[in-house]
Amino acid sequence: MSDYFKSVPNREGFFGNYGGAMLPPPLEPHFAEIRAAYDKLSKSADYLHELRYIRKHFQGRPTPISYLKNLSEAAGGAQIYAKREDLNHTGAHKLNHCMAEGLLAKFMGKTKLIAETGAGQHGVALATAAAYFGMECEIHMGEVDMAKEAPNVTRMKLLGATVVPVGEGAKTLKEAVDSAFGSYIAQADHALFGIGSVVGPHPFPMMVRDFQKVVGIESREQFMEMTGELPDIVAACVGGGSNAMGLFSGFIDDEGVALYGVEPMGTSSKLGDHAATLTYGVDGAIHGFATKVLLDKNGEPAPVNTLASGLDYPGVGPEHAYLQGTGRVTYTSADDKESLEAFYELSRREGIIPALESAHAVAFAMREAKNHPGKSILINLSGRGDKDIDFVTETYGFGE
Ligand SMILES: *Cc1c(COP(=O)(O)O)cnc(C)c1O
Repeated sequence: MSDYFKSVPNREGFFGNYGGAMLPPPLEPHFAEIRAAYDKLSKSADYLHELRYIRKHFQGRPTPISYLKNLSEAAGGAQIYAKREDLNHTGAHKLNHCMAEGLLAKFMGKTKLIAETGAGQHGVALATAAAYFGMECEIHMGEVDMAKEAPNVTRMKLLGATVVPVGEGAKTLKEAVDSAFGSYIAQADHALFGIGSVVGPHPFPMMVRDFQKVVGIESREQFMEMTGELPDIVAACVGGGSNAMGLFSGFIDDEGVALYGVEPMGTSSKLGDHAATLTYGVDGAIHGFATKVLLDKNGEPAPVNTLASGLDYPGVGPEHAYLQGTGRVTYTSADDKESLEAFYELSRREGIIPALESAHAVAFAMREAKNHPGKSILINLSGRGDKDIDFVTETYGFGE
């Protein structure tokens, strides 16, 4: 499609020094099978045709771009636009890769999807895909997260998924990953593991990026149609980095478009208070691939904390670590306070309640708008905020 996508990753899944696949031996043949299937399918007209049909008739794509007139006026300076992934079915960009993973499983003859989930967003999207394809679905979730995110547990069950409570250790995401992988090893002959972002062993960072490219491809075309130009600045929040890679993909070969990834700075820059992996992390490995990681003093993945649980990850997609190194993307951050303010502002001024994750990108746009009069900023509104309204109003009220 473009020079950039022919350049990375290489055959082994490396984006420069980052990526690759460090797998437990029992999983090696299964990942070889996934790589071979994806190589074949990504060039198959039948697969691409069915994926296009699903995007249009089930997900409701293309999602629009909205010009945020009131927010732009209030911020003062640049014109702010948003790609409306909150209008994608299930309310976030995650369904873009979950439907494609489900379709891959179908073409591979698998009958089951397995994954872990933290806040439950990925679990809900994957359970949706499983229902659509008539597959079984098994989602592993820490008991602490299950109590915190009860509505998502209900959703997954309504969608027909089995939710496996994980009671080991801290009973959150890391333990859920271990539990899900253990279960997958035993069932890999008939199940596919559905990774929830541009992370994990090769080929997942590449596949999930490819599945999210639709966001960037649509955006470039829509923005040109709306304004006759390309945006000056394109920005997205970065947890694992899938919604950002999706949007960036549309503009990565356009040298005049500045790309910004916005990490969560939480409550402070102290280790444990944030999840700004590219800002403060070091070269290391996590969950089977090389990337930047936040490590504690024992060299273990550090605890992370942000208002937006979908951004809570002490690692990051390897392609982002690579793009930081090449300088093509600039990584910056927004903290809890300014993201919460952006959550209220977008709700009140535009009638759009954003996910707390997406509010980090909104905060960036509001802050940067002042510095770029006459320019345009396009952000990815990765998801809607319905999931966050109880937490926000019970904890912080309704804003002033
Ligand atoms: C999960 C999630 C994110 C973070 O994931 P990325 O892979 O970094 O995109 C961002 N926004 C929403 C709405 C999410 O649900």
